Amino acid sequence: MKYDYLIIGQGICGTWLSYYLLNENKSVFVIDDADKSAASKIASGLINPVTGRRVVTTWMADELLPFVWNEYNSIGKKFDQQFIQQKNIIAFPSAPDLLQAFEKRKQQGNSYIYEASLKKETLYKFFDFPFDVMEIAPCYLVDVNAITKTWRQYLENKNALVTENFNEEELLVLDGYIQYKNITAEKIIYCNGINASLSKYWKQLPFVPNKGQALIADIKDLNAGYIYKFGHLSLIPRQNNLWWIGASNELNFISAEPSDEFLKGTTATLEKILKTDFKIEDHVSSVRPAAIERRPFIGIHSLYNQIAILNGMGSKGCSLAPWFAKELTSNLINKKTINVLADVNRYANVLRR
Ligand SMILES: Cc1cc2nc3c(=O)[nH]c(=O)nc-3n(C[C@H](O)[C@H](O)[C@H](O)COP(=O)(O)OP(=O)(O)OC[C@H]3O[C@@H](n4cnc5c(N)ncnc54)[C@H](O)[C@@H]3O)c2cc1C
Repeated sequence: MKYDYLIIGQGICGTWLSYYLLNENKSVFVIDDADKSAASKIASGLINPVTGRRVVTTWMADELLPFVWNEYNSIGKKFDQQFIQQKNIIAFPSAPDLLQAFEKRKQQGNSYIYEASLKKETLYKFFDFPFDVMEIAPCYLVDVNAITKTWRQYLENKNALVTENFNEEELLVLDGYIQYKNITAEKIIYCNGINASLSKYWKQLPFVPNKGQALIADIKDLNAGYIYKFGHLSLIPRQNNLWWIGASNELNFISAEPSDEFLKGTTATLEKILKTDFKIEDHVSSVRPAAIERRPFIGIHSLYNQIAILNGMGSKGCSLAPWFAKELTSNLINKKTINVLADVNRYANVLRR
């Protein structure tokens, strides 16, 4: 079987890349092992334009927000589904310095920080909070499970996806093409999340595996029109009174499995902040494919023209994946340049070693 591109992995990166390449009439084949704990299966799907204790605007937020809104709506229309919705964040600063940071940004005219559109009296019925509340807007929520499942089904129907483990030992990098079992392709593109850090072609890249855990809890009567954020803990609405509550950011971990420590700590926090009853239904965990300087790895390998990558999305896969999948597509087809901050060739020296 002969294809233009063989893609490894169908998380949010492999989904968007195969979508754009097919839109350009390229032939693609995707190999994905359906790992239930891949980052895209655990992610809450939030796109938040501000970050951190200093409440700064996230990288490229002004360009990314309108872009992702259009792109998720556009793929949604193809399947008559809604993959993205606007859900603003009601932020509860948990310490005076955080409150000051919010107020400072608001005074400076940061276009994403507003007074909360929910009344404090209403919020007091459900939450215990020490300071004022703010609203971050617009924020978007992507239904990552819906988009990846729907796209997988689409690829399967086209015989363009197989569910199996990719074994790099069987990959042959030949003159001008690659061969993997009975598949030949012009290029192979690694969209396999944190597993790319184990690849002999990409292991020199400065991946920083970042474990994230979340709880799924049943919380009745909470207004699901918003996301609620207490420090690093976000309460994000799902269907049927369920809420995704997370996440941790763990750089030193021995096991990628959910930990008792997170369960106990987060349950204790919920008991403190929630005035309403809740019931933990699930506890999930995954490893984010993060990069040392928090910028993704995009482009063709500096030694092998037949090998490329779309990876290193860290905690921002929902916004960065569509943008950089489109950029990589233009690079592969029209040789358009990739943003230098994301171009994997900034690591050409280490990749050539
Ligand atoms: C707890 C948590 C919360 C998060 N919340 C958000 C959020 O709110 N917003 C946001 O933007 N991002 C969030 N993220 C980050 C987001 O999940 C990642 O940035 C994104 O999912 C990375 O996508 P990916 O496609 O690169 O990798 P992955 O999602 O890991 O996908 C890789 C795919 O490759 C497959 N694969 C891997 N190895 C092989 C192999 N050898 N053979 C075949 N297939 C293989 C896997 O099965 C998987 O399907 C969160 C992450 C975590 C852990």
